Amino acid sequence: MATNTQEQQSQAGRHQEVGHKSLLQSDALYQQYILETSVYPREPEPMKELRELTAKHPWNLMTTSADEGQFLNMLLKLINAKNTMEIGVYTGYSLLATALALPDDGKILAMDINRENYELGLPVIQKAGVAHKIDFKEGPAMPALDQLVEDEKNHGSFDFVFVDADKDNYINYHKRLIELVKVGGLIGYDNTLWNGSVVAPPDAPLRKYVRYYRDFVLELNKALAADPRIEICMLPVGDGITLCRRVK
Ligand code: SAM
Ligand code: CA
Repeated sequence: MATNTQEQQSQAGRHQEVGHKSLLQSDALYQQYILETSVYPREPEPMKELRELTAKHPWNLMTTSADEGQFLNMLLKLINAKNTMEIGVYTGYSLLATALALPDDGKILAMDINRENYELGLPVIQKAGVAHKIDFKEGPAMPALDQLVEDEKNHGSFDFVFVDADKDNYINYHKRLIELVKVGGLIGYDNTLWNGSVVAPPDAPLRKYVRYYRDFVLELNKALAADPRIEICMLPVGDGITLCRRVK
């Protein structure tokens, strides 16, 4: 049997692995308590199926965690969201959490450069009876956003936008999304605590991609905090999500 210290060390090691789905510093609290007590028992069957299917995919580190999925689902219901957007779909876990929360005539404009991964999860989304709410657009989000901004009738038309794609573009997305989300609507930027690396010392042994994107995440966090058009709230759910409520 492992001693307490060995156990603590191995837990600390696991927490340093890139892709751990929580920043909480204890597996007992996250894996066993939060997930097993309040998330998994209430997870809708299709979300469980999609989570298990995604777990077998080689890029499964990218998926939204089950507790964050639960959070998004409740948030969307609380704000009565109807017209939403998602940038960064992967196999669709956050997309399904969104689709299940919207009313039957709700809409999600979902964008990703990769259709193949979306199509892996699509049969589960179809079986859940919510695929009709999704308009999937394959390709980079930026030109699609530019196109949306060009047409004034899209201004202020989105209740909620979830941004979970290329972190080096978040600031550019923000410039466009602030026009597209309605006053009183929300933009959620995901991974704003970037594996905890936002507070890592300069010589910390970070993986290459964590180090590369970290500067963009730091820059985004500063820019959001200084933006008078929004109120913000940074939550330590998943890898950190910053909610921005447009106020002007
Ligand atoms: N929200 C997803 C979920 O719940 O599983 C996870 C999204 S994953 C972290 C990031 C996704 O962003 C990838 O599927 C990737 O193909 C996509 N992506 C990367 N660059 C993009 C871009 N420029 N435009 C749109 N999607 C992009
Ligand atoms: Ca994410």
